[in-house]
Amino acid sequence: MPSVYIKTYGCQMNERDSDQVAQMLAARGYRLTREETDADVILLNTCSVRDMAEQKAIGKMGMLRKLRANRPHLVFGYLGCMAQSRGAELTASSGHVDLVVGTQKFHRVADYVDELLRAKLEARIDDERLAIVDTDEEEGSQNTIREHSLEDGQATAFVSIMQGCNMHCTFCIVPATRGAERSRSIESIVREVRELVARGVKEVTLLGQIVNLYGRHEFPTTTDQAGRKKSPFVLLLEAVHEIEGLRRLRFTSPHPIGFRDDLVEAIGRLPKVAAHVHLPLQSGSNRILKAMHRAYTAEKYVELVSRLRQARRDIAITTDIIVGFPGESDSDYAETRVLTEQIEFDNAFVFRYSPRRDTPAAEMKDQVEEDVKQARNQDLLHVINASARRTGERLIGKNVEILCEGRSKTNPNRLMGRTSSNKIVVFEGADHLTGGIFDIHVTQANGFSLYGTPAR
Ligand code: SF4
Repeated sequence: MPSVYIKTYGCQMNERDSDQVAQMLAARGYRLTREETDADVILLNTCSVRDMAEQKAIGKMGMLRKLRANRPHLVFGYLGCMAQSRGAELTASSGHVDLVVGTQKFHRVADYVDELLRAKLEARIDDERLAIVDTDEEEGSQNTIREHSLEDGQATAFVSIMQGCNMHCTFCIVPATRGAERSRSIESIVREVRELVARGVKEVTLLGQIVNLYGRHEFPTTTDQAGRKKSPFVLLLEAVHEIEGLRRLRFTSPHPIGFRDDLVEAIGRLPKVAAHVHLPLQSGSNRILKAMHRAYTAEKYVELVSRLRQARRDIAITTDIIVGFPGESDSDYAETRVLTEQIEFDNAFVFRYSPRRDTPAAEMKDQVEEDVKQARNQDLLHVINASARRTGERLIGKNVEILCEGRSKTNPNRLMGRTSSNKIVVFEGADHLTGGIFDIHVTQANGFSLYGTPAR
């Protein structure tokens, strides 16, 4: 039974795509391994969102090359976003790479791996050079990510509902790596979630690069009897919400412009929808937002946060912010800082702007010096850490409902779970609690985690 090692870089979409590939390979008799040295096939599912993510994958692939000395038949492959954007360039620059598969062809990986491995084993030569590169577009590829390899007791799962993005933010490589927006049907998504629930899943996260604009090209907006419009995304949330046995429903990542009244109202109305919205701000300066091609202003963003907080009092808001976008002056950054303090996010990812090839921002004048980006990054992290700590401390002495996900990764002697507001809670308890939903009495808040004991 050949064994396969898969390493995933980047976002939850990539995690989901890797799981699909793992599932397909397992169905063909491959054994999944956590040890590179034990593998017959090594696949790196790559991320292109920052240059550092690409360099990490390239560096890793370079280091792995030596494994072929003992295993001449070893198949090396790149999958995902960097594979899509660099294509055959990757086999040319890393002479040992056999396989490059782009983001619309994950469902072909098992075929290609079979073909390469067989050729290498049968040929019985060390330097067999049969490279396969497939970065073509494929109609309907959004419908191919739908199988799951769940672990024992796994109560949470990601469900890919769409692929691609048409927004063309000037800093972002996603439209080039993931293609145009394409959505699956509501029926097929509901079927997939039903199957997951039947296998013990209690919480699903709907995934898309621009998730709340789901279906806008394929399906019509409907109007209810009271004349209120409902977007395809709200119709999807309602349909998934109906599934018996599903306890929590999350979605990520949305775009602020996709929060029309129907979605804000649905978040307030549908109790299974989690009390958490990840709402990328990117900048607090209207001048920079315009240069980023983000079609909202800081004022509109603040108004949206207040509408969400009115719709759901306990809602947590997290965000992404880029510092050091080309042309960002001290006063632009100061506006971001003020807005960040004002909103008091529950958490945020702060990124130093990273020029991506073939994006408009990479060609802009006034690129910001690295030391300035670094200083702004550090400064903003202080603001975020302080607000995350405050939002956590407010929960000390209270009971919070969690879904227990299993052993804590940082401290395997303890269990961890998440609140509906996506706060991590660490506590002591026995393994049988995994998959359960119950209250924890919070006794301590430490940065981004809460600590407590199961409530009696
Ligand atoms: S909306 Fe998101 S994924 Fe789409 S181009 Fe902008 S940043 Fe990239």
